Amino acid sequence: MSQGLSNKRIITIAPTGAWPTKQNNPAMPMTPREIADDVYACWKAGAAVAHIHVRDDEGRPVMTLDKFSETVRLIREHKDCDIVINLTTSGSPDATDEERLQHLKVLKPDMASLDCGSMNWQHKFVAVNTPEFLDKLGRTMLENNVKPEIEVFETGMLYEALYLEKQGAVKAPIHFQFALGVPGGMPATIENLVFLVNKVPEGCTWGAVGIGKASMPVFLGTLALGGHPRVGFEDNVMYKYGELAQSNVQLVERARRIIEDAGYEAATPEEARQILGITQGKAKTI
Ligand code: ZN
Repeated sequence: MSQGLSNKRIITIAPTGAWPTKQNNPAMPMTPREIADDVYACWKAGAAVAHIHVRDDEGRPVMTLDKFSETVRLIREHKDCDIVINLTTSGSPDATDEERLQHLKVLKPDMASLDCGSMNWQHKFVAVNTPEFLDKLGRTMLENNVKPEIEVFETGMLYEALYLEKQGAVKAPIHFQFALGVPGGMPATIENLVFLVNKVPEGCTWGAVGIGKASMPVFLGTLALGGHPRVGFEDNVMYKYGELAQSNVQLVERARRIIEDAGYEAATPEEARQILGITQGKAKTI
């Protein structure tokens, strides 16, 4: 990495996620059109990566190929927008293993999430990621030139990623995404973030996000520790205590402002591709 890139911070926008609805924030993008328009506006505001979940027509979280395809196609209709497209592989607890892989094979996005272990999600259900599935998911990404975003909700998941690398299912340098503050995982404290960052092998990259009211402390800690921040309604629908965010764009604008005030620069999508080692270029549309 050149000296210039070390000063860049990649802003990831996570506009929708699996769970929040327009009841949580009326500006929540839910349909492919709403998500695509929101991602485009966030790209203009400085986001370099879009981490995307999709919903069915009733707003339920799904992993259906048609919704992913339409969303990606609508983003790519904006010919000037080269945002890095990162599709979830954990968008619905009801999805089969095959449903969680199919969009990677067909759409070949720049990136996709890889949740590196099972977890008692919010104390409500088991988010299942069997060893067999993780191996298959990693290899499917390798075959389709999709950069894995290793999502880490607790420490064991980081070591699981290193195991997958040893098995040849994931290739170094790994990009970790520390997601702190999901009940059932690690609480969103700076102490926990520092602990995880110290475990990141040389040459790897990392980002972090805190859920809900932890989003700003983790954002600031991430900048201070040299990582890449993520904002968006998937993680937090508030602008500050007692005040809903007007839009995802408002959160990206603030992220960029803080990054620049702190003496860093927001990475462009092209710079993000260089930092993350993404060789593929734009996601295919169908
Ligand atoms: Zn997600």
